[in-house]
Amino acid sequence: MNAQKYYQGFKMALFFMAGVVVCTDALQYIAHARAEVEDTTPRAVLAANEESMDDDKDEDTEFEAGKYASFEKDLEVGPEKEEEKQPAVQQKRQVQQPAQTTPPPPSTSQWPVTYSNAQAASLTVVVNKKHRLSSSYTPPLVSVQGGYLRPEAASALNQLFADASKAGVSLKIISSFRSYSTQVATYNRWVARSGQAQADTFSARPGHSEHQTGLAVDVGGVGSGCDLSTCFGNTPAGQWVAANAHRYGFFVRYPAGMQGITGYQYEPWHLRYVGSAAAAIVGSGLTMDQYYGVAAGGYQ
Ligand SMILES: [Zn+2]
Repeated sequence: MNAQKYYQGFKMALFFMAGVVVCTDALQYIAHARAEVEDTTPRAVLAANEESMDDDKDEDTEFEAGKYASFEKDLEVGPEKEEEKQPAVQQKRQVQQPAQTTPPPPSTSQWPVTYSNAQAASLTVVVNKKHRLSSSYTPPLVSVQGGYLRPEAASALNQLFADASKAGVSLKIISSFRSYSTQVATYNRWVARSGQAQADTFSARPGHSEHQTGLAVDVGGVGSGCDLSTCFGNTPAGQWVAANAHRYGFFVRYPAGMQGITGYQYEPWHLRYVGSAAAAIVGSGLTMDQYYGVAAGGYQ
């Protein structure tokens, strides 16, 4: 009888150990798959973007590398690699305490990051609630369609408007470049009207607005009646913009259902210019923040 008990006990122990090994492998596989997915696309794209930068190449390269480094920090790639080297006994303890495999949230003290003016000048600068522009940053601007944008974005927008017109869609600019001081007034006005929590869902705090880059533009359909409203997305103008903007280097920066990542409600009217990277960003199905692996979400 004792021998049978020992045998059953031995079987149970074997089962348990096999379970531990399978769980550990699965966790490591998931962690690596996640790192790979986030890893490869941005690296390849960042490399391509670095090549396309004409001036300030060194600064831009450092900037992109810096952005990537901070993302790696978020993923806590280092500690996961260390776990691989640990003996099986310690891996077992790891499985019993799954909370340890979840990367801790980044220290709130590091947000927001303020870009240098050289970094801010990159066509692919990711401005969001965790990454802001300096109050002293003003891009070079030219007049376009009644607004002001950086020259690259302005000529692309002219082409976009012209082709939209040929397709029977009449577009207009509602808002384009906004200076830091204009954003101070805009944001304060919304806070006074709606309260800060509500204002933060659709109006950027000063320095956090893409409009300060000179690469963002709010467009509307002439006579559509949906200016700065989500119904713009359902109008012929809104649908044409969503389907074609990437061909001109623009894309809808705040898509529907992505508020948890972008930090903003759906804004079918808000277009961001990045140049040749736009098609790849749209094709990826990711937000710009995700595509470049830059921390986003709320201010904290
Ligand atoms: Zn906008």
